[in-house]
Amino acid sequence: MFESLSNKLSGVFDGLRARGALSEADVTEALREVRLALLDSDVALPVVRDFVTKVRERAIGSEVLGSVTPGQQVVKIVNDVMIEQLGGEGAVPINLNAPAPIPILMVGLQGSGKTTTSGKIALRLKDRLRRRVLLASLDTQRPAAQLQLAQLAEQAGVPSLPIVAGQTPVQIANRAMDVGRREGFDVVILDTAGRLSINQELMDEVRQVRAATNPAETLLVVDAMTGQDAVNTAKAFNDALQITGVVLTRMDGDARGGAALSMRAVTGAPIKLVGVGEKQDALEDFHPERVAGRILG
Ligand code: GDP
Repeated sequence: MFESLSNKLSGVFDGLRARGALSEADVTEALREVRLALLDSDVALPVVRDFVTKVRERAIGSEVLGSVTPGQQVVKIVNDVMIEQLGGEGAVPINLNAPAPIPILMVGLQGSGKTTTSGKIALRLKDRLRRRVLLASLDTQRPAAQLQLAQLAEQAGVPSLPIVAGQTPVQIANRAMDVGRREGFDVVILDTAGRLSINQELMDEVRQVRAATNPAETLLVVDAMTGQDAVNTAKAFNDALQITGVVLTRMDGDARGGAALSMRAVTGAPIKLVGVGEKQDALEDFHPERVAGRILG
């Protein structure tokens, strides 16, 4: 883990002997490498700045113990701060502390993986926690979207709300909750429509659904491959909807996962789950230490 950053930092400190405490000059040099590693991993610039400041504060004057080199010392501090910033508490489960049927609202841009993730979460709650889950698509924008969710639901062996043409998202959400109550479902997952970019209409629509259903979770689904853009997305959704958690998709791809650090910094909400493929079981708990390793390369 952290091999490349470790090596680079060792290079920075080459020729230096541990001298008891890290000096400001040593740390400044090392932080240049840290900054580059973070930018390389697509961490958003303001987040990089804050991060580097935190590391600087902790590193300057810190004792270098005999058993580690100054480079290793900085890597350890970087790693510690990274894990803290990613939510050191470890995997945070989906909140199911609410009266049944528990609404879970899925939000995000079109193509982020929202519908796929709705199916994955339904499958996980059914298989692991033995919950009765109802899936409902509120996407009235794309005719195929409601069918897509119905197909995913079928694959997962989870019922989906029958499609009724002509209803608004709020009407569908209310109907889903009624069915949930009437038929004794534990959880109702509401998959909202995405747009290709953030707009007021989308936010207003989701806000209305939220007001009507009072969800236990408002989960933002974000594509890890979108890197820097993910920050703007997260900020806009969080400002409008006060999200309670993030699902980072496409972490099976090349993305180094810098978006994870940005998400947490911008929204304050924990990353709860990570999508690692197209299949329905390709969903994992978020482990800060693993993602830290990946970001730091
Ligand atoms: P939505 O528009 O946000 O509902 O996005 P979809 O759920 O339709 O997903 C868009 C595409 O991304 C589909 O082809 C999914 O199979 C794919 N996808 C979703 N999550 C992941 C993931 O974690 N990894 C990979 N590789 N593909 C994913």
